[in-house]
Amino acid sequence: MDGNSRQNVATFCTTYADDEVRRLMDLSIDKNMIDKDEYPQTAEIEKRCVHMLADLWHAPRSWETTGCSTTGSSEACMLGGLALKWQWKKRRLAEGKSVNKPNIVCGPVQVCWDKFARYFDVELRQVPLSGDSLGLQPEQLAAYCDENTIGVVATLGITFTCVYEPVKALAGALDALQRDVGLDIPIHVDAASGGFVAPFIQPDLEWDFSIERVKSINSSGHKYGLAPLGVGWVVWRSVKDLPDELIFMVDYLGGNMPTFALNFSRPAGQIIAQYYLLLRLGHEGYRRIQQECADTAQFLAEGLAKLSAIEMVYDGRGALPAVCYKLRHPDTAGFSLFDLSDRVRMRGWQIASYKLPADREETIVQRILIRRGITRDMAVLLLNDIKNAITHLLENPAPNSKAGPSFHHD
Ligand SMILES: *Cc1c(COP(=O)(O)O)cnc(C)c1O
Repeated sequence: MDGNSRQNVATFCTTYADDEVRRLMDLSIDKNMIDKDEYPQTAEIEKRCVHMLADLWHAPRSWETTGCSTTGSSEACMLGGLALKWQWKKRRLAEGKSVNKPNIVCGPVQVCWDKFARYFDVELRQVPLSGDSLGLQPEQLAAYCDENTIGVVATLGITFTCVYEPVKALAGALDALQRDVGLDIPIHVDAASGGFVAPFIQPDLEWDFSIERVKSINSSGHKYGLAPLGVGWVVWRSVKDLPDELIFMVDYLGGNMPTFALNFSRPAGQIIAQYYLLLRLGHEGYRRIQQECADTAQFLAEGLAKLSAIEMVYDGRGALPAVCYKLRHPDTAGFSLFDLSDRVRMRGWQIASYKLPADREETIVQRILIRRGITRDMAVLLLNDIKNAITHLLENPAPNSKAGPSFHHD
């Protein structure tokens, strides 16, 4: 009864694996990445991936950065958030000030940040969407930041709409805040999906370590990183940005190995597959794959924009290879996007419908992610199925429909 993963266009996660990736996963099925003494070459491979990403994200001295693999961006965000909390706490204690009320400021974030805030006792100050904006705006920051702000999270590839938050402008607003009131607030970029997209197809966008205030970045290897499910990455600008107190030295696996992670035992195959993909595809290979996805998303957007029932929210240009749209006249359409989700599900497509975050909850949107393995041919089939479903719903209105969210998106 599971869906066909290739027709799941609600997820960012990799659903494509070539034969070499399958063989590497098979060969490494018995490797535990935490046993760094037992599997030193896997540890070396993990380290090389970290430095390749640091370099991709323009760390000033990529060989001096630090970072690690994780199970995904959620764990990576927790580690990034914890590092911010400890840096803040150390600074406050040194100044003889209270450390009772840390807060973190962000726009519409993925649920992992709600978890981070609750699990680790930090107040989440989620700035509501204002006007037509889809993300955090620089001019909103000053009203939400104070001396207890451990950091600002900027999202590269907002979960709800797939657009990028303006990291450079947010950093500029924080520079002004430092000048005006002396608060020096670091930025963590949650680049779960954008971290493997922007460097390849939007190379001129400034969002990464090229901005001094960006101290850490996470990304999901298993999203646009193209690796199989189960790997994420977090990288700090320099070793100074990761407090020593969070690193544990472990000797009971042989040797004396540093570890910074929420988990202990974990499969190594995804890390090895990530390294293989980075080497196998190279910069040019990733660029071609992501550009093809972006072209397909834009093709789909052009087709959807021609349907009078639909109004585009994001047309696949300038951010993730995806589209996001809403009903042009939701009150008089005779059906809801939830009905449309149900209808296309009959053809096997999984498309999530959901509300935008506060203060735009009245807007229901749908989002379609184009990733490796979702071809132009599939996009043509999908577009036809959406058109046919809308025609059917217009001819057979469902004014009393109680259709609601049937499954979640990530
Ligand atoms: C997907 C996503 C996450 C969570 O990542 P996982 O790899 O699924 O744990 C966090 N933040 C953003 C912006 C995401 O898109």
